[in-house]
Amino acid sequence: MKTKFIFVTGGVLSSLGKGLAASSLGALLQTRGLSVTIQKLDPYINVDPGTMNPFQHGEVFVTDDGAETDLDLGHYERYLNVPMSRKNNTTSGAIYNHVIARERHGDYLGATVQVIPHITDEIKHTVLSLAEGESAPDVAIIEIGGTVGDIEGLPFLEAIRQLRSELGRDTCLNIHLTLVPYLRCAGEHKTKPTQHSVKELLSIGIQPDIILCRCEQSIPQEMRRKIALFCNVDQDAVFSSVDVNNIYEVPLRFYEEGFDQKVAIMLRLPARNAHLESWEKLVHDCANPQGRVTVAIVGKYVDLKEAYKSLHEALVHGGVANRVAVELRYVNSENVTEQNAAAVFKGCDGILVPGGFGYRGVEGKIAAIRYAREKRVPFFGICLGMQCAVIEFARHVAGLEDANSEEFNPLADHKVIYLMTEWFDFRTKNVEKRDASSDKGGTMRLGSYPCKVQPGTKAHEAYKKDMVDERHRHRYEFNNAFKEILGQKGMIFSGTAPDDSLVEIMELPDHPWFLGCQFHPEFKSRPMAAHPLFRDFIKAAKKQSKA
Ligand code: GLN
Repeated sequence: MKTKFIFVTGGVLSSLGKGLAASSLGALLQTRGLSVTIQKLDPYINVDPGTMNPFQHGEVFVTDDGAETDLDLGHYERYLNVPMSRKNNTTSGAIYNHVIARERHGDYLGATVQVIPHITDEIKHTVLSLAEGESAPDVAIIEIGGTVGDIEGLPFLEAIRQLRSELGRDTCLNIHLTLVPYLRCAGEHKTKPTQHSVKELLSIGIQPDIILCRCEQSIPQEMRRKIALFCNVDQDAVFSSVDVNNIYEVPLRFYEEGFDQKVAIMLRLPARNAHLESWEKLVHDCANPQGRVTVAIVGKYVDLKEAYKSLHEALVHGGVANRVAVELRYVNSENVTEQNAAAVFKGCDGILVPGGFGYRGVEGKIAAIRYAREKRVPFFGICLGMQCAVIEFARHVAGLEDANSEEFNPLADHKVIYLMTEWFDFRTKNVEKRDASSDKGGTMRLGSYPCKVQPGTKAHEAYKKDMVDERHRHRYEFNNAFKEILGQKGMIFSGTAPDDSLVEIMELPDHPWFLGCQFHPEFKSRPMAAHPLFRDFIKAAKKQSKA
């Protein structure tokens, strides 16, 4: 097998940045000429995070092939610039689902189905599937969600323990990320939590090869030696992962530590020297903006920034492309009214209404959009944001007073956004059927669909292409019955499905920049290649800030 596996586990506590560490290591190995993929194994029982409230688990990241996945996959795509797929994320729920389906089918031929070996075999199979086929990567990094010591994570740890013993140490490497706190009053780093965490790992048979220490400041040499001694790792296999201001600095800091070098040596990877010019330029550009714009994000999950992770990053990328710092003002849509909009958005150079579900906060979003439209503030509506922009225009420009989405008022006379019960799926070439009362998991239009972009529009000016592919995650659609009347009032449908059956982008030409899209462009934005719509939205905001 050509593929080498790097298993990343976390200890002491959660939120240490395993996802960013895995992504940054992957990016470094890529610059050394290796092909890399990353997989996330999540120990929770949900089959995927699609049904979870964003407050629980942050954003749901959508892949081209329509998988609803953990937000860490967004980091993987942004750092590696390779598309992830449903293969790159699995959960205990998905593993059990599969094993139970096979048991019901009689595939185990009378055996007692158990965690070991059946669940662990299924996990190993999922991991090893990354190494199949012509396009198997040189390196597969496997990030195990949760913290060592969690009951639900045990089958995953057992599976990687077995893989290491089956495939050997030249093929598998264990990296353990822990916290090394700095006690200010004592004036020193404390290694005990790391020692305990490694002890916990050892008790399940996993010896880490490398210890990566999340810390406020770099760990002194003698502390590293102490950790190495007590945790049985090489003297030069203890690295610092220091806090940074900008997440895109992490690959550079890791490189300075010699982290990727050690990984390459331990796995005997045929790696050339790292080339970090583009990362250095990115970090330099982020740190040296030539201006500043303020963008309001009007949503209902604003108390948890993780809920808008990709959106946040895409706006940062748009700023980098325009050499401006983007200041984000998260506004709770439930608190916005037509009366207070001017005060709420004072000083904002752009207003963005992101995706969302359910009626709560929708009227505030509509008020924000009206303000942006009438006061000529650059506006970007994404998914629900576009749907709200259509409702706002229908109500206040086209005079359809009760205009609404079927999601919010199924009895409205003017359902400008509605549930399509049937549509043609370009990927499966089937007519797909949906109904509102069906299961909530996996009943949406999900994943990548083609969109035809009309020349002479702001969308075309951004994309500079007649055809694009973008990712979707929604149930409701623009209702074509209203295309004519809204069109007469000045709305342009600049992006549609190739057969014109679905509206994908709408805009108002008589405005500095007012655009809504039914898809989620934020998933495809990259630090070194901002998404064209985010780039142009920030460009319009920059113009606004100068005016
Ligand atoms: N709730 C809307 C729908 O289901 C929008 C979804 C979203 O913004 N992702 O169509």
